[in-house]
Amino acid sequence: MALPPLVAPSAPLSTREIERYARHVLIPDVGTEGQRRLKNARVLVVGAGGLGSPALMYLAAAGVGTIGVVDDDVVELSNLQRQVVHGAADVGSLKSESAAQRLASVNPLVQVVRHDVRIDSTNALEIIADYDVVLDGTDNFPTRYLLNDACVLLGKPDVWGSIYRFDGQASIWWAQHGPCYRCVFPEPPPPGLVPSCAEGGVLGVLCAAIGSIQAAEVVKLIVGIGDPMVGRLLVHDALRPSWDVLSVQKNPGCAVCGENPTVTQLVDYEDFCAVTPVAGPGIPGIAGAPVVAAAGGAVPQISALELADLLSGGGLRPDLLLVDVRGGNERAIAGIAAAQAIHLDEFRSGAAFSQIPFDQPVVILCKTGVRSQEASRILLAAGHPDVRSLAGGVLAWVRDVDPTQPRY
Ligand SMILES: [Zn+2]
Repeated sequence: MALPPLVAPSAPLSTREIERYARHVLIPDVGTEGQRRLKNARVLVVGAGGLGSPALMYLAAAGVGTIGVVDDDVVELSNLQRQVVHGAADVGSLKSESAAQRLASVNPLVQVVRHDVRIDSTNALEIIADYDVVLDGTDNFPTRYLLNDACVLLGKPDVWGSIYRFDGQASIWWAQHGPCYRCVFPEPPPPGLVPSCAEGGVLGVLCAAIGSIQAAEVVKLIVGIGDPMVGRLLVHDALRPSWDVLSVQKNPGCAVCGENPTVTQLVDYEDFCAVTPVAGPGIPGIAGAPVVAAAGGAVPQISALELADLLSGGGLRPDLLLVDVRGGNERAIAGIAAAQAIHLDEFRSGAAFSQIPFDQPVVILCKTGVRSQEASRILLAAGHPDVRSLAGGVLAWVRDVDPTQPRY
């Protein structure tokens, strides 16, 4: 499906610009007019991470006139394996600042607009309204649904990518011309069911494959060439390797772009994806413990500092059983020595129950506190009376108790 160019041409290019972009200008489908459309274009890249890194650099090199960068994170050492827009000297700096500096060195003709904020329901429409197209380089479900819904409400294309380990996906969600993200993925997965790259890992170079596909689709939309990936879902497996393209359809019953939409303004996406920590009554016997509202019920939490206190003998429960539900690769990086390894899959299959005394208090941990909540929920449902999940997981333990261990 060919679509008209998304952006009108700028004023004629200078001699220097024609020289810089000569390899584009030589392509008959692009030419000076296509390059002028790129110069006039405003692209918002959400997330200066794995997908955002190659996308940002290629969009800048391609001469996209205005590039917005949304990110409020700082560069961490574990980012550098794939987030190539940042360098070793940038560790500790804001990602948006680091990316802006790099893009200025790639192409000083490009204007970079920094948005050093976490994009959410309160600011998304205002930020996105200034741009022609959004490139989703995020790694979490609440922001994906947020960007999708905001783009539907504003009538803009959302060029989406997703990566995990060796697998990548990409598509353009654009309700005016095809399905939106909700048409294809109407419900977020239950918290903990789909691990993030932060938990499960990702092949760094896969980001280049998917992020540059996204950048290519953005360029195609702006210039109005080829068949944009609207109504199609690209599925890449780097191991086989394979590139498959699936057809995806608009859903007339879609909550946001269907015939009778129920989502007519931005909602609370943390709540929609059920990952928001909320104050609550806890469960009987653990009064006052913070709980997390999530699909399947509330899970009592314990902080890293409270757990350290318990383990050091300062607490009341010397018989505490500590369970680590992560895989061996993760446990080899960082952890808590006293923990017994019982993988999350053993909770899912029920095999864990025979390894856990039901008359002993249990604290379950994982990397960030998501998988441990799922395991806790399973154990509570099986009748265990005293289960808590380590809030923030091993990362909180490393941050608050044992900073000598690596973060990952
Ligand atoms: Zn839809």
